Amino acid sequence: MFDIAATADDALKERAAALDARLTDAAPHDVIAAILAEKFDGGVGAVSSFGTESAVLLHMLAEIDRTAPVLFLDTGMLFPETLEYRDQLQERLGLTDIRVFTPDEADRLRLDPDNMLWASDTDACCGFRKVLPLGRALDGLGAWFNGRKRYHGETRSELPVVEADGPRIKVNPLANFNAQDIQSYFVRHHLPLHPLQKHGFASIGCMSCTSRTMPGENVRAGRWRGSNKTECGIHLSEV
Ligand code: SF4
Repeated sequence: MFDIAATADDALKERAAALDARLTDAAPHDVIAAILAEKFDGGVGAVSSFGTESAVLLHMLAEIDRTAPVLFLDTGMLFPETLEYRDQLQERLGLTDIRVFTPDEADRLRLDPDNMLWASDTDACCGFRKVLPLGRALDGLGAWFNGRKRYHGETRSELPVVEADGPRIKVNPLANFNAQDIQSYFVRHHLPLHPLQKHGFASIGCMSCTSRTMPGENVRAGRWRGSNKTECGIHLSEV
């Protein structure tokens, strides 16, 4: 029997594979430009945490199209410094369309009325604070950029540049960048650092699940320290 859903799925995977083959060795700036020039139903957006490395992708995006949508998940548990940094980068880069998504308040009252769910069930907490809002944020978009890199290790060590992710294309323009590339880009473009970086935070998410990293540790070692969790879920499931 003809299965229209399977056909659409296969077509998306084929398109992602063709784009990946074409862009796998391209410079990140060229990847972003090429994807923005493609036709995607619903258009293209970028998801940003406004963390320590976020300014690189956002700067590249702003150089090409500062009106492109930037989707930001405010979990309600972020450091105030992250919100200040978001505003600082918005002004510095001239981004005109930052869209903020928050957890559904009814979900929060039902699942986490005292904001302590993270202490007993991080997957459930990330589920309603990050995964569900991201699903709403991406609804209707045909493709999205994110800032993951292979040098982060763990589930990210084999990242393609372009991949199929559920009903849309996911693009990792910085997959090939390493820590030195990031640092050099900040210096070359005089980009401001996240205010907590100078206090030893190498990767920054929610306050309750982020700790400082020690010299020699993986950049993401301070996330969910002491547990096996390495991803919030937005990159593990079909959102
Ligand atoms: S990172 Fe921690 S506080 Fe933030 S949504 Fe996930 S479990 Fe909850």
